[in-house]
Amino acid sequence: MSEESDWTIGRLLTWTSDYLTKQGSTSPRLDAEVLLADACGCERIDLYTAFDRAATETVRVTFREMVRRRAEGTPVAYLVGKREFYSLSFRVTPDVLIPRPETEHLVIETLDLIKTLDGKPIKIVDVGSGSGNVSVAIAKHAPSSQITAVDISKTALEIARKNVETHQVQEQVSLVAGDLLEGFNDEPQFDFVVSNPPYVSEAELTQAACEVKDYEPHIALLGGPQGTEIIARLVQQSTGRLKSGGWLLLEFSPMIATLVADLIDASSAFEDPVTTKDLAGLTRVIKARRR
Ligand code: GLN
Repeated sequence: MSEESDWTIGRLLTWTSDYLTKQGSTSPRLDAEVLLADACGCERIDLYTAFDRAATETVRVTFREMVRRRAEGTPVAYLVGKREFYSLSFRVTPDVLIPRPETEHLVIETLDLIKTLDGKPIKIVDVGSGSGNVSVAIAKHAPSSQITAVDISKTALEIARKNVETHQVQEQVSLVAGDLLEGFNDEPQFDFVVSNPPYVSEAELTQAACEVKDYEPHIALLGGPQGTEIIARLVQQSTGRLKSGGWLLLEFSPMIATLVADLIDASSAFEDPVTTKDLAGLTRVIKARRR
């Protein structure tokens, strides 16, 4: 290759974008920009005014190593240690699921329901809180909410704690280790049960992209042989712990949409379940009201 000083920001982005395309990335340009911004210690937008600037040796070394790992399959979010969700930045490590845009629908649906309650104090439990993205996003937009974030993974709870602190919602969000709602008395106490639970079936996981199945925590993904097993337990446990008139909101895989709707219908504790589609037009979230 030419002189080192020829490696401008612009050329690095073009070269890396081509390289990652060949390596099979579905978002090569975005990956290159996010990684290079991280290596430069700037925002992505700042790269656009620096196209002609030569990258320093330190930046190039850091960037090259990240590109190498990205080409192997490591998700960008784990390389840079963060991911944006609901316009907030969340710290992520391989101990937590990388927040997905689809999950923003779970937050939107919850916030829409909260708005109808005119600022009345409400108690929410976020089951399988992972990085804490759902709890923090709700807390930030619904000051009337008190949220208990539950996760079975202690290492995930540590990440969530950092995110709760960064976004300064410690007064609203408490973190608890537990297996779904097992640790809570079986009595009506919550206004909302909100969850993006593990819902991928064993078969679906074997077919998932390598960057999902080889890098993200299986405990956060796998819902059992059919994918519905954890949701079934959660629906059953929610029945006793939700107040009458309270809401259950769940994210799930479109592959099990009918099974999830059937599970909720079969419990007969909930009325009029309504599903929402994500931006890809796939049924993704269900909300149901406790009778
Ligand atoms: N609540 C987190 C999220 O929505 C983690 C979910 C999970 O681990 N299944 O991304």
